Amino acid sequence: MARHSKQKHNRTKQGNTPSEDHPAALVGGAGELIAHGNGLDARVLVLNRLYVAVRVVTVRRAFAMLCRDMAEIISVEDGQYVNYDFATWTEVSEFRRAYERDQHDWVRTVRTEIAVPRIIRLFGYDKLPTQRVKLNRRNLFARDRSQCQYCGSHFTTSELTLDHVTPRTQGGGDTWENLVCACVRCNARKGGRTPEQARMKLIRKPVRPRRNPLITLRLGNEKYRSWKAFLDEAYWSVELR
Ligand SMILES: [Zn+2]
Repeated sequence: MARHSKQKHNRTKQGNTPSEDHPAALVGGAGELIAHGNGLDARVLVLNRLYVAVRVVTVRRAFAMLCRDMAEIISVEDGQYVNYDFATWTEVSEFRRAYERDQHDWVRTVRTEIAVPRIIRLFGYDKLPTQRVKLNRRNLFARDRSQCQYCGSHFTTSELTLDHVTPRTQGGGDTWENLVCACVRCNARKGGRTPEQARMKLIRKPVRPRRNPLITLRLGNEKYRSWKAFLDEAYWSVELR
């Protein structure tokens, strides 16, 4: 959970002694002391050493890795990929703050303001991403775009339930193909019946997503456009072996 933003920074924390010449000093520690900024809601795509997308992390996590010199920043500029270490990125951020402020998300740190990187690359990680998307509540909600799959209305996640298309009592299992989001009303109306028995129609056929649906959702957002090339590559390398 997010700390209280007005909390005093604990500079005496153990194992947290950034020197003035280390990038960690800029954020007052291992990235966790980022004070505030709407950029904290953004997400960062993580590539392994071989430039294959492996996961998506929070901005805090990305800064923590950058500060520990575990990763570098990959920035897409005029269709080219440019690599930055964290210190250089921080300097470049000053220019961006002056000339491209609205093109970036920002986080304010103890000393300065830094543009949120969209992509980082780990130096010591060669593994490939897990190929299967985990079947869990969060991913199901993302796949169904927080939309009731019967009436088509959008709801907040707390107003949505998970519905077994074929009820468990009739042999339906916990699978991508048999679980959908439904609003409380539709779920109650359907009861322990199949859609046919309840004379209800699914707005789309539930399928297993090819890639993490949370990532797919973000790809629709202009600011994550630079992720696309890496994700497509990950997709192809997984499918073709
Ligand atoms: Zn509904």
